[in-house]
Amino acid sequence: MSKKKIQAIRGMNDLLPEQSPLWQYFEGQVRTLMQRYGYSEIRTPIVEQTALFARSIGEVTDIVEKEMYTFEDRNGDSLTLRPEGTASCVRAAMEHGLLHNQVQRLWYQGPMFRHERPQKGRYRQFHQVGVEAYGLDGPDIDAELILLTARLWKQLGLYEHVTLELNSLGSAEARAAYRELLVAYFERHHEVLDEDSRRRLHSNPLRILDSKNPDMAPMLADAPQLLDHIDAESREHFERLTGLLDAAGIGYTINPRLVRGLDYYSRTVFEWTTTALGSQGTVCAGGRYDALVEQLGGKPTPAVGFAMGIERLILLLETLSLVPQDADPVLDIYIIGMDEAGSQDALLLGETLREQLPTRRIQVHCGGGSFKSQIKKADKSGARLALLIGEEERAQQQVTLKFLRDARDQQRLAQQDLAETLADLLDTP
Ligand code: ATP
Ligand code: MG
Repeated sequence: MSKKKIQAIRGMNDLLPEQSPLWQYFEGQVRTLMQRYGYSEIRTPIVEQTALFARSIGEVTDIVEKEMYTFEDRNGDSLTLRPEGTASCVRAAMEHGLLHNQVQRLWYQGPMFRHERPQKGRYRQFHQVGVEAYGLDGPDIDAELILLTARLWKQLGLYEHVTLELNSLGSAEARAAYRELLVAYFERHHEVLDEDSRRRLHSNPLRILDSKNPDMAPMLADAPQLLDHIDAESREHFERLTGLLDAAGIGYTINPRLVRGLDYYSRTVFEWTTTALGSQGTVCAGGRYDALVEQLGGKPTPAVGFAMGIERLILLLETLSLVPQDADPVLDIYIIGMDEAGSQDALLLGETLREQLPTRRIQVHCGGGSFKSQIKKADKSGARLALLIGEEERAQQQVTLKFLRDARDQQRLAQQDLAETLADLLDTP
């Protein structure tokens, strides 16, 4: 039998204890923000029928063409690890009757899976926070989603470091007409198109506008712009949206080449980008997808949403040194039993103090060892105070208090009113 060490799958990361406080800080900020805006959390399975993604994301997108983790289960059904959350959210909302004549404001968070080339800010298992609103077709809800993200950036200290890009894709009909215009233009410049773009010319020509190939840049700069060809209603919708953002003081740039990678968008699309992360600069992206619910077999339902990449935002916080000091909660109290009976007392004292000091972080030493090694562990734990219980302390119903961070003499304290004394000590910085 081979003893070769089994390792994690490429592009899928472990989140280690030293990193989790920053994630928890971020997730905590998101959770309270959603509550403050009145959004409810929805959790869906990580695996869905393959057809859900093929039908919603679009057959000729990067995700469906080459990035999905698709497999047959034991019944021979084709299943896929979710590459994004919108399709699952729509599926679940339809299945449970949440969309019929109702407004829904939903959010979710969790891992997504895409088989891409792993690099900084791009992984095969990554995490998103997603927000979706159903039943509202006006630009006010589009603005609300943007305001919500702007507030999050402000809370995290990121607002100065991200830029909002906006575009409108118009209606499906307007886009179809524009598409013909665009294909004709690209055909006139066929010699400049790279291989990828030639492949997309008839399957997904709008995506060519997204190309980062510098050789194609001048040609793309002169291409007809979707924003000049959208329908009058979509134009008005877009102008009302920009008006709302102006009124709220949210800056943006209109990027007529912003088309988004997924098929299901219509009208408003937006991205928040940063220049601080190299080529993986989009931290949040979304838009309106009024046709999707019907496309998946439901009644026509206006919808708008976005998803943000948690890894990229965490990287950004680290790159900009915006990690809060107290993101890493250290211990307050470390309790040591100095003999066999003492370790039982320590365990019980830990429980009593947790009842009395519910906000304090208390750890009880486990695993015995010499007094010296236990004190060393207490020191390493980061706790401010250590409590020691040995034979003498037990006999007198006391504990010994040691100050681990201050140059103060140790004290004997009665177990009776210990919690009060500790609370006072820990409240003074
Ligand atoms: P990109 O153009 O960077 O591939 P995308 O258009 O495929 O992004 P979306 O499907 O819009 O991305 O997903 C929303 C957000 O999720 C992205 O803006 C990004 O922050 C994050 N994201 C997408 N794919 C990955 C990935 N493979 N690894 C880490 N984060 C990702
Ligand atoms: Mg992608």
